[in-house]
Amino acid sequence: MENAAITRFAPSPNGALHLGHALSALYCHDLARSTGGRFLVRIEDIDGSRSRAEHIDRALADLAWLGLDPDEPPLLQSSCIPRYRAARDRLLGDGLLYRCWCTRAEITEALRYAPVRHGPDGPAYPGTCRHAARADGEDRPYSWRLDMAAALERAGPLGWRDLMRGEVAANPGRFGDIVIWRKDAPASYHLAATLDDAAQHIGPVVRGADLFDYTDIHVLLQALLQLPQPCYWHHPLLLGPDGEKLAKSKDSPALEVRRLAGEDGRILAEELRAHHFPAGISLTAP
Ligand code: GLU
Repeated sequence: MENAAITRFAPSPNGALHLGHALSALYCHDLARSTGGRFLVRIEDIDGSRSRAEHIDRALADLAWLGLDPDEPPLLQSSCIPRYRAARDRLLGDGLLYRCWCTRAEITEALRYAPVRHGPDGPAYPGTCRHAARADGEDRPYSWRLDMAAALERAGPLGWRDLMRGEVAANPGRFGDIVIWRKDAPASYHLAATLDDAAQHIGPVVRGADLFDYTDIHVLLQALLQLPQPCYWHHPLLLGPDGEKLAKSKDSPALEVRRLAGEDGRILAEELRAHHFPAGISLTAP
């Protein structure tokens, strides 16, 4: 069906799902269902130090409890590393990446002496390794960083469309030389998510407003890797009584606690539907 939305709910299995996740999954699910599209689940489990297998099982049980059944078995990012590596190597072949050996402490130190450019994630990397000629014997672990200036030159001006906010001019340069391939884990979130959204033919990408700024990076990567650009919907977040995003709020109840206490997940999903669809968004695909 034309205009059928293919959406994905993409939890990172580093903790329990809470009400904010339920809302996000519900938006993805309902947008797909109302347009005759597909609802997919992707497990973003490549952060080896934080991902836990038991959180994957719990998240899938929570979704089933809410009545949000995906149309395909979940895609595990940990099974896609060769595909991410191929994209990294392509960027490398295009001369857009450089090795970075800096530790966090070294970056903090370098920032004391460098003009600090603040991006949405805090100070941008000061560029220490950009032109560093390291000795051949350098055997400390390194990450791969994007040479942002070169990437911007290659990509030219960029923009994207958000279903709620309309046309957005992208300014990925404010993030500086981001990490594309991590020292301690494989692909960065940005590379993996961008590649998977393309591989799974996602559109619109439905996710929380806290990820809005990152879309500038994702459309840059799409341009560099010649991937199609989907449209996006960054939905409002649920806040806890303390005004914090629910994931971080101590008042955020884990879905699992409610599930195991015998609450009816489908009723909870109906309550979320009744109260939280923002005005101005209709559940029709673009
Ligand atoms: N894995 C991310 C999270 O749990 C979501 C990333 C995305 O939707 O692009 O917040």
